[in-house]
Amino acid sequence: MKGILVIISAPSGAGKSTIIRQILGNDPNCRFAISHTTRQPRAGEKDGVDYYFVGRDEFQSMVANDRFAEWAVVHSNFYGTSLAEVERLSSQGIDVVFEVDYQGGRALMRRFPDAASIFVLPPSMAEVKRRLTDRGTDDAETIEMRLQNARIEIATAGEYRYIVVNDDLDRAVSQVGDVIRVERLRSINRAAMIRDLVAEKV
Ligand code: 5GP
Repeated sequence: MKGILVIISAPSGAGKSTIIRQILGNDPNCRFAISHTTRQPRAGEKDGVDYYFVGRDEFQSMVANDRFAEWAVVHSNFYGTSLAEVERLSSQGIDVVFEVDYQGGRALMRRFPDAASIFVLPPSMAEVKRRLTDRGTDDAETIEMRLQNARIEIATAGEYRYIVVNDDLDRAVSQVGDVIRVERLRSINRAAMIRDLVAEKV
């Protein structure tokens, strides 16, 4: 049995990571596709858990060898989802959650047209600014840049199958859960079951 694929994108400050953490905690059949990245690990991040942290040479050689389902440059670092990671999870019947930027979202939607895609919108740009400011990790100029990038990301939201607005975290988590539950019921995701029933000898 193959698991379903769920692409989730959102601008920074929309609360995407918190939503995904809760979804994965609530639903044992969902796992996060661990991306490769060339950026340095942040405090507390673990290799093989948050990301596979690799050097630029290794990343480039994976690109040259067609090892990625998609890859992109985000904030001057390389990020990519390897085909091996998708296969590792989906072949076990596990539902794979991709957390990617809009470039990754577009590429994955093209490669896997049956994948569910969800864009998480912030309730307002003022709220994004507040969240970025409260985080206390960026200066005013960086916050301005992140806000501008957020607008570019949000402009692509209509390309996704579902939109979840994160004005209330519990509701947003439950809506993403609803999407996953509904997507599991799509006939395209039941093909193996249909085949087995037709072939079953009684
Ligand atoms: P961060 O460095 O803060 O963990 O992630 C920065 C951005 O890169 C986020 O928008 C995140 O969704 C995106 N990202 C993480 N992994 C991937 C990936 O494998 N592919 C793409 N295209 N974007 C990714």
